[in-house]
Amino acid sequence: MDPNESDTDSGSKKKTSSSTLVTDRVEAKLPHFAASPIITISVGQEKATYRIHKDVLVVNSTFFAKMFVSGMIEAQTNEVYFPEDCPEVFEQFASWIYRPLEETRPYEYDDSIRTLKCWAFADKFGIPLWQDQLMKNIMEYWSNYRLSFHDISWVLNNVSNMTALYKLAVDQFAWELEIAPGRLEEAEPLLLMHDFPILRFICQLLSICNREDRMVPSPASRLGCKYHVHSEGTPCPVR
Ligand SMILES: [Zn+2]
Repeated sequence: MDPNESDTDSGSKKKTSSSTLVTDRVEAKLPHFAASPIITISVGQEKATYRIHKDVLVVNSTFFAKMFVSGMIEAQTNEVYFPEDCPEVFEQFASWIYRPLEETRPYEYDDSIRTLKCWAFADKFGIPLWQDQLMKNIMEYWSNYRLSFHDISWVLNNVSNMTALYKLAVDQFAWELEIAPGRLEEAEPLLLMHDFPILRFICQLLSICNREDRMVPSPASRLGCKYHVHSEGTPCPVR
C-alpha cells in the first residue's frame, strides 16, 4: 500500500480527519491499547524494525486506519514494510505516537531538516495532529531566526507544491528577500530552479510591497491556522 494514497495528504485538500477528533480518540482509546495486536514495521533498505500497537497506529494515522480495514495482506499478517522511508524519521514517529499530546521535539538549528522530514512523513501517512504540532515549531523558529535557504531548498525539492509547508516556505522566502535584498545573490540558485513557484512568489512579494506601513510581519510569525492541516471549523489543536 502506497502511503501517498493517504486521504489526508494536505495537498489533496481532503481533510477527512480533524486533529481534535484524533486527540479525543487518543485519550479515549489509549487506556486499552495494550490489548491490541502488535504490528511489526520494517523501514528502509536496512529494514530497521519497530513494533507498535495496532490501535495506536489506527487512532493516529488515517493511512494505517485505512490499511487495517481494507483487508490487505498487511492487515492479515500484521507485518508492514516501507522500503522508501527513512528509519531516523520513523524513529521520531514511533516515539511521538505513544505520547501525541506532549510537546514535540523543537526545531533545532543543527538538525532543522529532521523536523521538515517529520512534517513530510506526517503528511504522507495522514497524521494531521503531528503535522500541526511540527508546523508550530517550524513557524516559531522561522519567525525568530534568519531564514535558512538550505531549509527552503529542501522543502521546494521534497514536498508537494500543494502542501501547507511548501506554501509557507515560499511565502517566508519572499518576505525574507523583501526585508533583506542583500541576500538576493545567496538566494539566486533557488530562484533559478526550473520549477520554482514564481507566481506564488511574486504575489507574495507584491502583497508585501503594496503595504503602506511596510512593517509586514513574517508569514511564520502570523497567528491563525493558514498553514495548519486540521479541518476548518474545529478547534485548533496547537493553540
Ligand atoms: Zn490551527
